[in-house]
Amino acid sequence: MSNCDNHDSCINTALKEAQNICDQRDLRFTKIRKTVLSIIWESHKPIKAYDILDKITGMEFSAKPPTVYRALDFLLENGLIHKINSLNAYVGCPHPLQHEQCYFIICSSCDEIEECCDKDITNAIEGVMAKNKFSHSNIAIEINGTCNNCLNEK
Ligand SMILES: [Zn+2]
Ligand SMILES: [Zn+2]
Ligand SMILES: [Zn+2]
Repeated sequence: MSNCDNHDSCINTALKEAQNICDQRDLRFTKIRKTVLSIIWESHKPIKAYDILDKITGMEFSAKPPTVYRALDFLLENGLIHKINSLNAYVGCPHPLQHEQCYFIICSSCDEIEECCDKDITNAIEGVMAKNKFSHSNIAIEINGTCNNCLNEK
């Protein structure tokens, strides 16, 4: 997928935004929270919890698994990362708090994930939910396939 030219700027922006959100909400962006977020942002590929744990175990400060899981919960609750249910893995959110409902396109060739927002999709789902008289709490749409870059490489 790699729609990003300069991934360092993705990482810097994500960490800065996380700090801003924590400041606004009077939450502490602790070292473990920051470390977990940085690990997740190492790429646009999803990462599983045990891979995050592995990386942290190799670092100078060691964190116990529950601490890491709590940090993941914190990042999820504050919209800084998303869980990709079909892969049981996490990705960083490129635009925390600015989105309504997002959907994810997942390339099975390069493993990258892109988060897209489309009001039309949200409207369509809300219409269907209203028809079914169903009150939804969460919408997760994950679309698997091959991105344009990978298609062209073949
Ligand atoms: Zn990037
Ligand atoms: Zn998002
Ligand atoms: Zn791809």
